[in-house]
Order: sequence, then C-alpha cells, then structure tokens
Amino acid sequence: MIIAETINEVRKYVKEQKMMGHTVGLCPTMGYLHAGHASLVRESAKRCDYTVASVFLNPTQFAQNEDLAGYPRDFERDCRILEENGCDLVFHPSVEEMYPEGFATYVEIQSEMPRQLCGKTRPTHFRGVCTVVNKLFNIVTPDMAFFGEKDAQQLAIVKQMARDLSMDVEVIGCPIVREEDGLAMSSRNTYLNPEERKASGILSDALELGKKLYNDGNDDAEAVTKAMSELIEQEPLARIDYVSAVNAFTMMPVEKLSSDALFALAVYIGKTRLIDNLRLS
Ligand code: AMP
Repeated sequence: MIIAETINEVRKYVKEQKMMGHTVGLCPTMGYLHAGHASLVRESAKRCDYTVASVFLNPTQFAQNEDLAGYPRDFERDCRILEENGCDLVFHPSVEEMYPEGFATYVEIQSEMPRQLCGKTRPTHFRGVCTVVNKLFNIVTPDMAFFGEKDAQQLAIVKQMARDLSMDVEVIGCPIVREEDGLAMSSRNTYLNPEERKASGILSDALELGKKLYNDGNDDAEAVTKAMSELIEQEPLARIDYVSAVNAFTMMPVEKLSSDALFALAVYIGKTRLIDNLRLS
C-alpha cells in the first residue's frame, strides 16, 4: 500500500492505474478508523481495481466550538486497517496541501437539504463536506466513491452535488456497521466513558422502537418520533438534539411514514454528540 501526502503523487499513481484501464474507487475518511470505514474499503476493493482511501481531518467541516482539536488520531493504526481491507493508496495530506494560503472557493448546495437535521446546529458543516469531497473527487478522479449510510444526510448531499455538477463518479452508499448492542460505529465513540458507552445504546433502541411502531401500523410521524424521544428522555445521560422522520432522498420532514422515510437522530451522551438513522424500507 502506498502512502501519498501530496496531490501530485496521488495524480501520478491514479494516472498509472487508468493507463492500464483500471477502475478507481475512493473512500473518504477523517481517520481513527473502525469496522464501518473498513466495510467501505472492502466494498471498493470488491467493485474497483484500485482503491484509494483518504485520511484527512477536514477543518472546514468543523465549527469553532466543535471537536476538531480533540478528534482522535492514529495514522499508523489507520494504515494497518486500510491495508488489511484491500486499500492500495492512502492519501494523507496536510491542511496546507488541501487549503493553501489564499484558498477561497467553497461548494454549497442552495436548497433546504443541508439546512435540515445536522444543518440546524451545524450550519457550515455541509459546505465544508461538499468542498473537501469535491476536491477529493478532482484529485483522485474516482469511478466510484463509497460513503456510509451512517451519515445519511451527508450521503444525500454528496449524491445531489455529484448530480448537479455533472461529476463523472458513481456515489455509493454502504450499510451502517454497528456494535453488538446496536450502537453505530463512530470514531467519536472513543469519547464515551464506560457509563456513557452503556447509555449510548439508547439511540439504536429508539430507532428500533420507531420501526416497530411503524411495522405495527402506526404511520403518524409526529406520534412515532414523540414515542422515540420519550424513550431517549428516560436515559439520564442523554440529551436530544433532534429526533426526526424525513424523506430519505430530500431529508425534508414527513408527516406520514412510508418506505421512503428514515428516522434520523442526534443525541448528546454526556458531552459527545452521536448521530444515527434507520431506513423504513
Ligand atoms: P468519517 O471518518 O466519520 O468522516 O467517516 C468516513 C466515512 O465512513 C463516511 O462515509 C461515513 O459515513 C462512513 N462511516 C462512518 N461510520 C460508519 C459506520 N458505522 N458504518 C458505515 N459507514 C460508516
């Protein structure tokens, strides 16, 4: 596995592969990898001839008050996980390589989609995501790019961006990988102390409750999300940011639940903000 720190190196290696007629897959990450990230890399290795993963803690998607400085890092461990799962090239740029002095161009979706859910408390987050993903697409020129359904709003936004800007890349969503108790894997789970870790099972419990109520014939989004919220409120360490039922493609709130809807939630467990979601199909 090759480790590249500059854009020029990545371009050189990718060009060699394309000259051989090979397809290229990209898995963008912020590092501190877990089995969720590994599943994206494996999917890329299965579907593409050459797999590139980026490990870049992107500052433009963090607001001033967020956890950029404390975000966990372990690049050596990341490389081991990437190599074991079939990655061919890791792109690990510095912040200066990605955002050189004078950088001033951002990509932003001008619809309601990025303003829903996480966009309410993180108003500049998706602008940072779109900008860095756009740059990564331009640098790596992948045939396919793999994103987790864990970040359902991000996936919907990246798909919209790729479509709107005629990007020659297939954006592929991969299923959420969970711990045994249902907690969605996340680099941020390492912030949780043992007591908080135990309490965090409440997120997937609430999603499962919502799905059960829907399967039992209750399609009133407000009533079902209220029941989910009430369950979460029983956990003393939990504080709700949002519990919503939205259309899986537009991220807009729905009144009636259907197979096109998903439950999405963001909940603080102690100081750690966790997100999760569940499709109703
Ligand atoms: P991150 O490093 O958190 O930016 O995540 C990088 C990619 O991995 C994103 O496309 C995430 O949606 C995806 N990802 C993160 N956690 C999971 C998970 N538990 N299951 C599947 N994909 C995930």
